[in-house]
Amino acid sequence: MKLDVRKFVGSLWSRPDPVLAGAGVAGELLVAKIRLFLATVLLLIPVINSLFFPVDAKEAMVGMSLASGTFFLSVLVYYLISREYNPSWLSFASSSFDVTLVSSALVLFLVMNLPHTAVNSKVVFEGYFLAIGSTSLRYDKRVCISAGLLAFGEYFAIVYFAATHWDLNNAAFSPYPYGMFGWSAQISRLIMMLTASALSLALVSRSQKLLQMATSDPLTGLFNRGYVDDRFAIELSRARRYGKLLTIAVIDADRFKSLNDTHGHSAGDLVLRKLGTMLRDSFRQSDTVGRYGGEEFVVILPEMDIEAAQRKLETLRELVARTPMELPARGETVQVTISAGLATFPQDGEDALDLYASADLRMFQAKKEGRNRVVASPEPVLA
Ligand code: GH3
Ligand code: MG
Ligand code: MG
Repeated sequence: MKLDVRKFVGSLWSRPDPVLAGAGVAGELLVAKIRLFLATVLLLIPVINSLFFPVDAKEAMVGMSLASGTFFLSVLVYYLISREYNPSWLSFASSSFDVTLVSSALVLFLVMNLPHTAVNSKVVFEGYFLAIGSTSLRYDKRVCISAGLLAFGEYFAIVYFAATHWDLNNAAFSPYPYGMFGWSAQISRLIMMLTASALSLALVSRSQKLLQMATSDPLTGLFNRGYVDDRFAIELSRARRYGKLLTIAVIDADRFKSLNDTHGHSAGDLVLRKLGTMLRDSFRQSDTVGRYGGEEFVVILPEMDIEAAQRKLETLRELVARTPMELPARGETVQVTISAGLATFPQDGEDALDLYASADLRMFQAKKEGRNRVVASPEPVLA
């Protein structure tokens, strides 16, 4: 079997599905809360230390500035996310921040002339695993990869710097409370970091597959009603926020009951599958094509006005009407037609229910006018 490297890399470095990205936002908020909690604890340690124990002034200053910097950044990230400020780079920035925070603590040990604590740290190093593990909560494979590689690079640079600037196994450091230096242990640590990133990546991939299974219609392979509703809500809020148009199409196969009655249910199923394929092939990747139930389909067309949507639907309607569908089991061909109704945000309704109702009414209007047609008229339709 030939491995398609470009396809493989493309699948790794791909944007998450918008619905999964929604779960990623909730994950980002959870991580922000945990980070804020840890940052508060981290801030309390140097405060308590300087109050109750005699500490070196320089050391206390460095500890305090790192802890308060972390605290303020954590508050800022938490504030932004809880205010629904969530640009696409935020997950990359916040996961890089977590990784770099761990590295900063290790660098601090180097600055304090404690290289063994930096390279053989017992608690701080494990922080990398928290940072890498929490990337899986962002449900974005790219974040898992970038945070994993960043952690690997930063830690390698720290160890390399320590190994080349200090004679770490010199007897002057004995009795080595943190242990002596050895590259084999360091390489094992680096491999563990990459393994942790691969596990996060696998978890996100698996979530994506499960989402796909939970959101597709088994007969046609199109999205199911639950997914279409979720996407409709997401696209609608995007259209509202950015002042963009959004059109929804409700499509229903004509006289499908009589097709079932004449040719049998399995013939009906076959026709539905073929209709599904035609629908999928007729729209862009960014459009959402779903089977709403029975012989009814819904298409969400972001950033499309009603005239353009009408032209698209007319093309599809003509294609369906002139494509005879073969029923191989019986050696027969059937000819189906579709009727469609369109509605556009914001002219035809402000929310999902109103828009769906308008498009559905127009679809019924198309049935009333004789079927095999697309109705997009802005005036109220049913008398
Ligand atoms: P109209 O032109 O007014 O839409 O008429 P219609 O016959 O298409 O509409 P009606 O709602 O009366 O019938 C829909 C039919 O679709 C009834 C049902 O048997 C059939 N149907 C719904 N789901 C499936 C399915 O999964 N497979 C098959 N084979 N038929 C289905
Ligand atoms: Mg029908
Ligand atoms: Mg119907």
